[in-house]
Amino acid sequence: MSKEITARSQDYAQWYNDLVLKGGLADYSAVKGCMVIKPYGFALWENMRDVLDRMFKETGHQNAYFPLFIPKSFLSKEADHVEGFAKECAVVTHYRLKNNPDGSGVIVDPDAKLEEELIVRPTSETIIWNTYKDWIQSYRDLPLLVNQWANVVRWEMRTRLFLRTTEFLWQEGHTAHATAEEAIEETRKMLDVYADFVENYMAVPVVKGVKSASERFAGAVDTYCIEALMQDGKALQAGTSHFLGQNFAKAFDVQFSNKENKLEYVWATSWGVSTRLVGALVMAHSDDDGLILPPRIAPLQVVIVPIYKGQDQKDPIDAKVAAIVKELKAAGIRVKYDDSDNARPGWKFAEHEMKGVPVRIAIGSRDLENNVAEVARRDTKTKESLSLDGLAGNIVALLDEIQQNMYNKALAFRNEHITPVDSWEAFERALDEKTGFVAAHWDGTPETEAAIKEKTKATIRCIPLNNPQEAGVCILTGKPSKERVLFARAY
Ligand code: AMP
Repeated sequence: MSKEITARSQDYAQWYNDLVLKGGLADYSAVKGCMVIKPYGFALWENMRDVLDRMFKETGHQNAYFPLFIPKSFLSKEADHVEGFAKECAVVTHYRLKNNPDGSGVIVDPDAKLEEELIVRPTSETIIWNTYKDWIQSYRDLPLLVNQWANVVRWEMRTRLFLRTTEFLWQEGHTAHATAEEAIEETRKMLDVYADFVENYMAVPVVKGVKSASERFAGAVDTYCIEALMQDGKALQAGTSHFLGQNFAKAFDVQFSNKENKLEYVWATSWGVSTRLVGALVMAHSDDDGLILPPRIAPLQVVIVPIYKGQDQKDPIDAKVAAIVKELKAAGIRVKYDDSDNARPGWKFAEHEMKGVPVRIAIGSRDLENNVAEVARRDTKTKESLSLDGLAGNIVALLDEIQQNMYNKALAFRNEHITPVDSWEAFERALDEKTGFVAAHWDGTPETEAAIKEKTKATIRCIPLNNPQEAGVCILTGKPSKERVLFARAY
């Protein structure tokens, strides 16, 4: 089984595709750039979604749902926004097909042309702010804290399963506030929620930061982000939280009367994470034998495989396992007893390894006599014999240990791959040899940023929050700089 996976060292991109396809997460589809999320991949996304949804509700947000389509005129109301998204928009022009008179199938009915073309949402600021105009009149209507779980479409030219698809699933928070300070506080709070989720549930360490002007969301005043590092040393933007100022309120004329009864434009934020997170999870942790999933969001946390010859040997194992499963379930563990007799234990082991199940328990007749089971960890691939007495409690503790170990390992890797450099030569060398983030001085101009990207394909991933202020000179132009920023080649 494991032989079918391309080694990371041989071809990282192919290794990733092998894991996604053979691990049962997704398939390519008949539509270029769009994927089919398979049940196992969707179970993973659902677990992520459930945790995030709970976190959003705990921070005071409510879910709502807005239309898939946006009138074309809405998109053009905010100049930067339309400029940023125009190149990626799918446009609906007609609402009907008809039989081709020549009998060759169906054609678009030219008589069914829409009066106003519709855009399939690439993001929903415009349709939501058009609605907020009706929802917000007074300071009493604020803050308005809404989240939407939805699909969006961005016509991407170069797609990768999960990491960048034409249609993707995501959540988008859209909040409205009475003051800039409140909106900025919300933007930062949701960035913290994302960082908490990605680090503590996905076991992937992130750098929190602000984007440079050229990487900013189209229509935002400031874009905050969390950046993660993949095992090939490339960075991945794992989530974004935008302070939108009053841009959308002005574009859609959303004003409120303040406590002094004066009209003011509303302040806005938006924030999103997508199915890209599934790709991040795969790329950050897995190995050449398959997926390695962190226990807190793995669809299946424990699998139990019986080892027996004939039903006589299986019956007592079944009875013992039933009790263990009951105890594990009572402790909230997602567990499966894989006793199907259409596959041999070795095949099952490889399959569960491929799927990244954190813990595998094997129990044979001899084990039963000795009152033990063989417990194997997916993250370290180590095995130990554990007593059947108190097994459930030990497994619960082991799952915690695996979660922590996965995070520590990813953190050590990430920290080893942040290289400070002070010259252009060292910058290029670090990008090519060490890979990962390179912390370097930059003169703060978009021209220099673009020139560096042109020469090296590296972009400014972020200006880290709480960045130490340190005088230096730009690695490209030698002009003065007051802090280092993080560059990397990125997905
Ligand atoms: P944005 O609205 O551009 O700030 O993006 C919100 C979130 O969606 C970010 O976490 C992005 O990394 C992610 N994202 C953007 N484009 C895609 C895409 N084509 N496929 C999957 N995720 C995406």
